[in-house]
Amino acid sequence: MAISRKEKALAIARILDDLFPEVPVPLVHKDAYTLLVAVILSARCTDIKVNEVTPELFHKADNAKAMSKLDVDVIREIIKPCGLSPAKSKNIKAMSKILVDQYGGQVPSTFSELEALPGVGHKTASVVMAQAFGVPAFPVDTHIHRLAYRWGLSDGSTVEKTESDLKKLFPKETWNKLHLQIIYFGRTYCPARGHVRAKCPICHLYGRRDA
Ligand code: SF4
Repeated sequence: MAISRKEKALAIARILDDLFPEVPVPLVHKDAYTLLVAVILSARCTDIKVNEVTPELFHKADNAKAMSKLDVDVIREIIKPCGLSPAKSKNIKAMSKILVDQYGGQVPSTFSELEALPGVGHKTASVVMAQAFGVPAFPVDTHIHRLAYRWGLSDGSTVEKTESDLKKLFPKETWNKLHLQIIYFGRTYCPARGHVRAKCPICHLYGRRDA
């Protein structure tokens, strides 16, 4: 008898739990503000690279008030290795100023307030909600989007569809851990090319034949 999509999802979650029982947050941070800045920096950049630049940046400014006073050129120079530094530096400064002016220097904890900040889209807001505030969210990055398709959990059409499909398949209380487990799985098992389906702990059992 064919396994249902929901049964498959839960079986995959069990494998992920075995492989990655602990999932530390990859971006080094000390609070919601430093996490938010790190997530903005991580757009089209690796977490490793972000973790290399944030110590210097946070040494100069590790809170919204200090960052809002920092010269944008200083921010841009420090974050250059992360790429897109002109836009990211402007967004970090502008976002920090809004936090100071409207939120007493604190990071707001609702999706709508976060998504209204410069440089903060739905995925960034979801990471902050999940990892800083412990609110169930399912940030879908390229790894998760691709794997959800390959595992037949979503149709691969859009990131929004993947997020809503995964939220329906997995219990809410598992979302925050699961999104990190899938990211760790992708980084460990899914090279950009040359993956061997037969040796893969999930695709050999549950992967689409055509992916
Ligand atoms: S076979 Fe394994 S390595 Fe390849 S895409 Fe599937 S999960 Fe990733």
